[in-house]
Amino acid sequence: MRTVKLFQADAYRTEFEGRVVSCTPVGDAWAVVLNQTCFYPASGGQPSDAGTLGGAPVLDVRAESDGAIVHVVGAPISGTVVGQVDWNRRLDHMEQHTGQHLLSAAFMHQFEAETVSWHLGAEASTVDVSMDSLSADQAEELELTCNQMIRSGLPVHAHLVAPEDVQRYPLRKPPTVEGPIRIIEIEGYDWSPCGGTHVRNIGELGLIKIKNWERYKRGVRVTFLAGQRALRDYLALDRMTRELSRRLSIGVAELPRWTDRTQEELNSLRKRVRTQQEALLTEEAERLLADARRVGPARVVRQSFGGRPVDELRLLAAKVAAAPGCVAVFGTRGALPQLILHRATDLRLDVGQILKEVLPILDGKGGGSPIQAQGGGSRPDRLEEALDAAVARIAEALRQ
Ligand SMILES: [Zn+2]
Repeated sequence: MRTVKLFQADAYRTEFEGRVVSCTPVGDAWAVVLNQTCFYPASGGQPSDAGTLGGAPVLDVRAESDGAIVHVVGAPISGTVVGQVDWNRRLDHMEQHTGQHLLSAAFMHQFEAETVSWHLGAEASTVDVSMDSLSADQAEELELTCNQMIRSGLPVHAHLVAPEDVQRYPLRKPPTVEGPIRIIEIEGYDWSPCGGTHVRNIGELGLIKIKNWERYKRGVRVTFLAGQRALRDYLALDRMTRELSRRLSIGVAELPRWTDRTQEELNSLRKRVRTQQEALLTEEAERLLADARRVGPARVVRQSFGGRPVDELRLLAAKVAAAPGCVAVFGTRGALPQLILHRATDLRLDVGQILKEVLPILDGKGGGSPIQAQGGGSRPDRLEEALDAAVARIAEALRQ
C-alpha cells in the first residue's frame, strides 16, 4: 500500500499520528508501515530522517517500490501511534538539499554544467558536475552568485504536476519517475523534479560555501556546506585563525607569509644541523678509532652508548668502518638494547652471521649483510656480555 507522504506537504511538520498497517520482526528490529508519515525515507541523495515512533527509536526509513514507506523501529508497535521527527537532523537535510538545488542551478546558469549526481554526507555534501575543470576564480564567482541569491530571499515552491503538463516547466533535468511529477522551484530561477524536503525560502540558508573541488571521473566533484553547517565551519575556522594569530602574536593576514618564512628558516636550520652533526660524528669516529682494540689483522671499536638515537649510531658505525681494517661493535643501553655491527670492506668477515650468533644473549632478533647488521633484544642486563661475545666471535672468524 502507498503511505501518504506528509513530509511532502509540509517539510516543517515534525509530529504526526499514524495508524500501524503492518509490523513485522526483522532481525532484532521491526519493520513498520503506517497509513501516513512525516519520516522521509532515504532517496534522491537525501538520507532518511531519525526520531521516534510510539516512543520507540526509528533506526532507518526506506521507500518500497509499491509506495509503502517502511520504518525500522527498535520495538514492536500497534494501533495509532505518535511519530516525532528529529527536527535538527531534518532541518540540516533541508538546508543541504536546497543548497544543492541552488548550487546545481548556478552551475547550469553560469557554466552550462549539468549535475550528474550528488551526495548528502554526514560532514559535507558533494555535487558532481559535467565540467572539464573549475578554476578558483570560477568557484568564487559561483559562490558569490549563490550567496547573492540567498540574500535576495527567493521563495521555494513545490508543484505537483500531471505528466502531460510537465513540458510547461523549464526543467533543469528530466524526471525519472512515472505519474504526477513533483517539481521544486526556486522562484523564477530553477525547476527540478525532486521528492525531497526543502526550506520555504532560500534566504533561510543564510550561507553556502564551496569547500573544495577535484577532478572526478569525467567531471568535477564539488564539496559544499549550506546553512548552519557553513556557519559552524566559518566559526570554527575563525576561532582557529584567531588562535593561531594570538599564539604567534601576528595579524591573521600575516599568517601565510609567516608560514613561508618559518619553513625557509627550518630548512636552512636542518641543513646546518646535518652539516654540524656530520662533522661531530667524523671527529667522534676518529677519537674512537684512536682507542680501537687490535684483533688479529683488524681494529675493533667496541662501545656501548646511552641516550643516543639508533640512526645516529648507524652513521657513526659507518664512519668507523670507513677506515680500512676497522670494525664497529656498538650497543645501545636502555630497556630494549640494540646491537650494531659494521665492518670495513677490505676485511673478510660476515658480521650478519656474527650478529645472528650473539643476539640470543639478548633474547633478540635482527639481521643484515656480511658488511653491516643490526638487531635488538629485551635483556639490557646482558648488553656488555653480548658485545664481548661479538668481539670474541670476530677474533675467532679472523683467525680462520
Ligand atoms: Zn532534490
